[in-house]
This record gives sequence, structure tokens and C-alpha cells, in this order.
Amino acid sequence: VQLDMEGALTARDRVGIQDFVLLDETTEAAVISNLKKRFSKDLIYTYIGTLLVSINPYKELDIYNKKQMDIYMGVNFFELPPHYALADNAYHTMLTEFNNHFILISGESGAGKTEASKKILQYYAVSCPSTTLLNTVRDKMLMSNPVLEAFGNAKTLKNDNSSRFGKYMDIQFDSQGDAVGGHILNYLLEKSRVAHQNHGERNFHIFYQLVEGGSDKLLQQLGLERDCQHYNYLTQGECAIVSSINDKNDWKSVKNALQVINFDEENTSHLFGVVASVLHLGNVRFDTDGKGHALLNDKTELNWVANLLGVDANKLLEGLTFRKIETKSEQVLSPFTIDHAIYVRDAMAKAIYGQTFTWLVNRINETIENKDSSRKTVIGLLDIYGFEVFYVNFEQFCINYCNEKLQQLFIQLTLKAEQEEYEAEGIEWEPVQFFNNKIICDLVEEKHRGIISILLQDEECLRPGDATDLTFLERLEEKMGNHPHFVHKLADKMIRKTLERGDFRLLHYAGEVTYCVVFLDKNNDLLYRNIKDVATQFKSSLLKLTEMLMAKEAWYIRCLKSNESKQQHFDEALIRHQVKYLGLMEHLRVRRAGFAYRRKYEDFLKYKPLCPATWPHWRGLPADGVELLAQHLGYLPDEYKMGTKIFIRHPRTLYATEDAYEKC
Ligand code: ADP
Ligand code: MG
Repeated sequence: VQLDMEGALTARDRVGIQDFVLLDETTEAAVISNLKKRFSKDLIYTYIGTLLVSINPYKELDIYNKKQMDIYMGVNFFELPPHYALADNAYHTMLTEFNNHFILISGESGAGKTEASKKILQYYAVSCPSTTLLNTVRDKMLMSNPVLEAFGNAKTLKNDNSSRFGKYMDIQFDSQGDAVGGHILNYLLEKSRVAHQNHGERNFHIFYQLVEGGSDKLLQQLGLERDCQHYNYLTQGECAIVSSINDKNDWKSVKNALQVINFDEENTSHLFGVVASVLHLGNVRFDTDGKGHALLNDKTELNWVANLLGVDANKLLEGLTFRKIETKSEQVLSPFTIDHAIYVRDAMAKAIYGQTFTWLVNRINETIENKDSSRKTVIGLLDIYGFEVFYVNFEQFCINYCNEKLQQLFIQLTLKAEQEEYEAEGIEWEPVQFFNNKIICDLVEEKHRGIISILLQDEECLRPGDATDLTFLERLEEKMGNHPHFVHKLADKMIRKTLERGDFRLLHYAGEVTYCVVFLDKNNDLLYRNIKDVATQFKSSLLKLTEMLMAKEAWYIRCLKSNESKQQHFDEALIRHQVKYLGLMEHLRVRRAGFAYRRKYEDFLKYKPLCPATWPHWRGLPADGVELLAQHLGYLPDEYKMGTKIFIRHPRTLYATEDAYEKC
């Protein structure tokens, strides 16, 4: 039914329009009203040209089944409702042009990015040609998801299954179009969550799954109680048990998925041993001697940690309660205070968990990677954690910076590139104004002057508990004071009221975020002397990522959050905000001002049977043949332009040609 309604443009009043390029007017009101109309009919996907906009429906829609998938295989991009068309089109372009692609999925936390990426992976898994051998590779790729989600996702206030790491997955295809392997890159797991959760939030799913779902025997082996409340690291958010999450069932899926991705008995028990060790570590409670130094009266938990990790319990205790100072001639042990010991304990837990996650991704890569050397093309899926205004820690700063970079990539690849293409092609048109967030990227990353550079120069601010946090802020204020996207407490009187001492605020493209310089302290763990290395590494891995993406053909999915309360409700103000900062209006205007559709001359000549002058052979220049064809097909001079390709203003012009071609 849905398909029928969608197919006919006459139904546009009832169900809205499936491509914004075809809207009568390009006002924000018209765009929102179209989204709303479609949302009310469960049509959550809409195109802007080749870009896909999706709105989180917060309910299961019956549109992701095999029957739906079959409809999409190999049809023209604009002929069907949008949801699988983008995935299918990227796939077919890859096959015909034998080049690499990526799909950038963006939107804020809870907007539906991860769901979208899973649907696309499923589509490829189901729709590509298959053999039994390949099926196992595909199963592994699909099954890597529940495992990574168990270890890398958590309930947050925004999303009950929020990805706390960035993920880029290449799906590799051979020249026949078979999905033959994959590779995953992970970015910056939010490790601080291991030791600390905000109210209403949880630790990573796997901890609860293990405690709730693990067999009695397993829990006994790991020294665990079947009670989340028993664990310091599971209870800070005061929501260990949530109605929307079934940890017991999820545990079963994860166990099953681990089997599919070749985790043997030994690996699996090692993995859960490490998970359990983190829970034990969190329950290590220090006492104090008369002088305020940390010591441990009850060593039960400590012994479990040592046992599970296979390390010496005394060494572990020493590491947790003493600082080792090495001089030329000797080693001196200087005792920690309780606070410091707790801090080192948490740092250790985070480090253990973080390394386990990296190990897990590497193991998964070993099982899904295709090692034969034949030439392959890839479609990459980028599902990176969304922009967030809620957290003020260092990880969040990195995440928001990452989102700025991706927005910049989007701007470069679409808005700028599109305008430059018209210029290069000598096609006349009205330039469209857009906000370029390069200024914010520079603010963060510029050499010598950016926030990261200042952070690196400022050794002082890295010392645990050091009051010199403010030195960093003072330096920031000195360097950034007049920057339009940087606000600090001295900037003006109004702001001084709301900004605490030690805060600074960035006006990100997606909104304002206040960061607390104490983030350096809050995350300040033993290994956080390395905050520098984190910052530097993250910056360079982002640079690598953007370079890698620039070399591929880009497709975009922009996910919108329909409301803040996870209900089936269309919050107009919220949608408007996202439409604005995601640059959808500008994108639409650029698309409209220009030509929604373009084809290489050689490709367009496939329609040569439609014109006597080009049929059966066209021996002249392809451009001349296309010109003859276009005139014969009755294209008006305003409807198309000739550059190095044919540019067609409205897709419907091309539909008509397609239809005629089908019939002939
Ligand atoms: P993000 O990755 O952008 O933070 P998710 O993809 O995890 O967000 O989506 C958050 C939640 O919203 C999901 O757990 C699911 O309940 C719901 N959701 C998202 N997309 C869809 C969809 N296409 N159909 C049904 N529910 C969805
Ligand atoms: Mg996600």
C-alpha cells in the first residue's frame, strides 16, 4: 500500500513528497511540514537529491523485511521510497565504476544512526549474491554488532542503547559484488564511564548482562554475586535495572554472537575474566592508617582481581597504594592518600577495559578480514557518536570536535564541491550562502593557536589535583579571548553569571557547550598524563579518517531526532533546530539552485534507442550525441545543461526518459 501511495506523485498531498528537491517552495516551513506529513504516515525517510534524511520513529516499522529489500535491487534511485535506495545505489555505482564509497551517518545522540547503519549492513548481507562460504563471512560481520554493542554501548539519558565509541566499518566486495569481508576501525571509547556514571545512566551493557545472565557456575568461577547493586561501578547512576533493556536475553545473544565470530572457550573465559576483574576492582575499598595513607584491610576483592588477571596480588597492592619514585641509586615507595589510591584504582579499571575493547575489535577484524589479494572495492559505514551538550569531560570535547570535523567534510564534499563544480562546468547559477564551520575546527586544532596546541604546551595542567588547571584556562582566554566561537567568564557580564570559574564555552555548529577545565582533573588518571597523547592521537586519527574518506565517493544519511522523550511524537522545535544546524536548507537550496541529477555522457547514451539520429550507433563525440538525444526527447533549454556531463534540473525529466526507455 505504502509503495503505491509513494509511487504516484498525485498522492503528494496525503503523504508528502519523497524528494525535497521537488517541493514547490524551499522554505523551512515547507520542509518541516513535509517531514511532519510523512512522519505521521510512518514515512521516515525523505531525499534531498541523493542525500537521505531520516527521522527516528521510536517504533518498529514493517519496512525492513526481505520482501522490501528485494524490491530495491537494481532499480533506479528515484523510483522507489527512499530507505534502501541509497544503500543500493552506492552498491551499484561501486560495481559499475569499480570505486570505493562511504556512507556518512550523522545526527545527534539517539537520532537513529546506529540503527541505520545496521539496516544497511543487513541489506547488503541479504541482497548481495551469496554462496555458503560467503554466508559465514556475512554472519560474522552481522554478529560483530551485538558483541561490540555489549562492550561499547550504554544507557544514557538520551538513548538507552547509546554508542560510546566511534565506528567505521568497511565492507569489502569482490568484482562480482559479493560481500567477502570487512574491517572495523574504532574511535575513542568513553572509558571514563567504567568508573563513573551520571545519574540515570549506566555502565557498559556487558557488565549487567554478565551479572544478570551468566550461569551460576560462571559467576562462581568469577567470584561474582548475582546482584548489580553489589557493585560500586554499576550503581552510581541508580538505574542498574531498566525496563527497556533485557540484560538476560541480551547476554544470550552476545554469547551466541561470540561463537559465530570464532571465540573459543579459552578466549571467551579470558574475556569475561577481565570484565569480572573490573567489577572486583571497583569494589576494592581502602582504609587509612593514622597518617592518612591508604591501606587495604580486606584483600578479598584484590585477590580476585589478581587471580582473574593472572598477576601477583602483592605487586597489584603495591601499585594501588604506593607511588614508585626512581632515583639513580634506588627505588623509593611513597604511600598514596586514600583519594589518590581510589583515583589510581579507577584509572586501572578504565585502562583494563579500554585495552580489552581494542583487543576485541582486533579479534573481530581477524575473523572478518578477507586476506586474499584480489582487487576489492569497499563501502564504508561511518557511525560516529553524536554531538552532545550534556557532558563536559575531555572525551566529550573530542567527540564534539570529531563532529565538527565531519560537518566540515560534509560541507567540503557537498556544498562547496557542488558550487565549485558548477563554476568549473561554467554553469550559471545563484550562489547559496552557508555557514562554514571551518572557523570552529581551526579554533580547536590550529597549529600553535588552537585549543589542543595550548593544551599540549601546558604541561602544568596535567598534574593530578594541581591547581594549575586555571593556567590552561588563562592561556585559552589570552589566545582566544576575541574569538566569536569562544566564550569565557571575562567575555561579558551576562555570561559571567552563568559561567562558573574555570569554565569555557564553545559555540559549536550544533549548539553551545560549556566545558569545565576541571575535565583535565576529572579524567585525570594515572595514564592521563597521557591526555596529551590522547588529544594528539585523536587529532591524527581524525585526520587519517578524513583523508581516507576524501578518497572515496560520499553518500549521506542525516538522522533527526523526533523528540527528547523517546516517544512517537514529532517535536517541531527540535526538528527545526536540527534541520538548521545540519545545514539541510542550504543543501536543498544548492541542489535546487542547481541540477539535481547528472550523468556522464557515455552513461546517458544508453538511451540512444529513443532517437533515430543516435540509433543504432553514435559515432560522433558523446556530448554531441547527448545533445541530439536531449533535444529529441523534448528537454527544454532550461531543464538541462551541458558541462563535462549532462546536468538535469529535475529528476522527473530523467524519469520520463527512463520510462520511455523501459517501454522501447
Ligand atoms: P544513535 O546511534 O543515533 O545514538 P540509535 O540508532 O541507537 O541512535 O537509536 C536510538 C533508539 O531509537 C534505538 O534504540 C531504537 O529504539 C530507536 N530507533 C532508531 N532508529 C529506528 C528505526 N529506524 N526504527 C525503529 N526504531 C528506531
Ligand atoms: Mg549510536
